[in-house]
Amino acid sequence: MIDKKDIKNLKKIVGEENVKDDPAHLIAYSYDATKTRYKPEAVVFPKNEQDVSEILKYCNERGIVITPRGAGSGFTGGALPVKGGIVLSLEKHMNKILEIDMENMVARVQPGVINKDLQREVEKVGLFYPPDPASQEYSTIGGNVSENAGGMRAAKYGITKDYVMALRAVLPNGDIIRAGKKTIKDVAGYNIAGILVGSEGTLAVITEITLKLISKPKLTKTAMGVFGSVKEAMNAVYKSLAGGANPVAMEFLDNLSIRAVEEKFHKGLPVDAGAILISDIDGNVEEEIDYQLSLLEKFFKKNGCREFKIAKDEKEAADIWFARRNASQSITIYGSKKINEDVTVPRSMLPKYLEEVDRISKKYGVKIPCFGHTGDGNVHTNVMVDGSDPKEVEKGYKAIEEIFKVTIELGGTLSGEHGIGISKAPFMKMAFSDKEIELFKRIKHAFDPNNILNPGKMGLD
Ligand SMILES: Cc1cc2nc3c(=O)[nH]c(=O)nc-3n(C[C@H](O)[C@H](O)[C@H](O)COP(=O)(O)OP(=O)(O)OC[C@H]3O[C@@H](n4cnc5c(N)ncnc54)[C@H](O)[C@@H]3O)c2cc1C
Repeated sequence: MIDKKDIKNLKKIVGEENVKDDPAHLIAYSYDATKTRYKPEAVVFPKNEQDVSEILKYCNERGIVITPRGAGSGFTGGALPVKGGIVLSLEKHMNKILEIDMENMVARVQPGVINKDLQREVEKVGLFYPPDPASQEYSTIGGNVSENAGGMRAAKYGITKDYVMALRAVLPNGDIIRAGKKTIKDVAGYNIAGILVGSEGTLAVITEITLKLISKPKLTKTAMGVFGSVKEAMNAVYKSLAGGANPVAMEFLDNLSIRAVEEKFHKGLPVDAGAILISDIDGNVEEEIDYQLSLLEKFFKKNGCREFKIAKDEKEAADIWFARRNASQSITIYGSKKINEDVTVPRSMLPKYLEEVDRISKKYGVKIPCFGHTGDGNVHTNVMVDGSDPKEVEKGYKAIEEIFKVTIELGGTLSGEHGIGISKAPFMKMAFSDKEIELFKRIKHAFDPNNILNPGKMGLD
């Protein structure tokens, strides 16, 4: 419990105006995209790394728990203060791009920088930061690193972890550490930056991030394939990638998703199709793009694609992407509650995975529209139920449990991009052995022996 003296001491560290314990602030910092609420006892806005260090040192000594927070857009409750204590909000002051080093193609940023702001700044000088979660307009780089966020371009360019070269971070006892270097190669010591990426704020507070940048490709073209069945489309995904196609994105909508977008927006989508695949191809010369498009067309058609369309201009490309960008909001026609998961399987398992989802949907009598980033094996699997009917909701969660089981059996993972947080913590035992979970706990203990940093997450307590 935080008392008046703690508030006074925290104010001494960061200044009167940077500690809030009024009801409005406590409510405003009690939520994330899960819609679950946990109220903190105070919200603290550090101005710099030194503040973070002093806050953590103080809280560690007093046994006050801390939940780091970026923009609060997480889908699994990572930024929720489930055990009370303070929310440490990094987005207010620690939001500067510190350096864009064009010679080494590297950016150095504070954790509160918004993803899209970084993308815009580096693109002004011809560079490119590919990870682009759909929350890019508001999620922070600190949050992206802590969740190892992915996005639409992962099929070709990978995810956040592929761009983190170095970090500065504060350990729960207040010690400031550096991990990694501004070098392409670095094999000295343990890969601590690698452990912190995706650690969901449970090990250290990240205070500075050095990111790899690449050259911005000059040209992009968009294509869409229409398939009679999901199975054909999923075969086309892994066979085209294994056959040398290198699309930026290979996104998918199943029939339920296509019909939902069409019902809401009347765009003339092929409502009788089993699935559509949408791909972007980028590069610097037309020939390269044309070659890649011809590969896609060849593999799509070999696998049952009945129509292959290449967008002639930006407007046509935007029209093709419209369906994918609006799938998530459109599928709400199937139920007032969406239990959405971001499971990921090896790409060659996609046909089997979606066959199993269909079986589970029939078994529980619930609709499960699927769409997402099939180019990296990541399928947004949405169990839609009537949220006002507890029996329906229970059925939905049973279906989800079975979906997780199938995912693990197929060599997949509980989460491709949203993390574990509190939402998926109950399933950690399904995905990891006792010994593996024990190792996670020992790592947590090595960083945070007093368990003050984001306790109650990732099934570690
Ligand atoms: C509409 C929508 C679309 C989304 N699309 C995608 C998507 O395409 N891909 C994807 O990967 N995710 C997506 N997300 C999920 C979410 O945006 C990402 O997980 C994002 O990385 C979270 O960033 P944030 O700044 O909001 O972090 P928060 O939600 O504030 O925090 C997330 C976690 O990071 C920790 N944390 C934050 N900052 C720090 C720090 N400096 N040091 C230590 N720990 C820290 C928190 O404690 C918490 O555990 C989406 C969310 C929404 C609402």
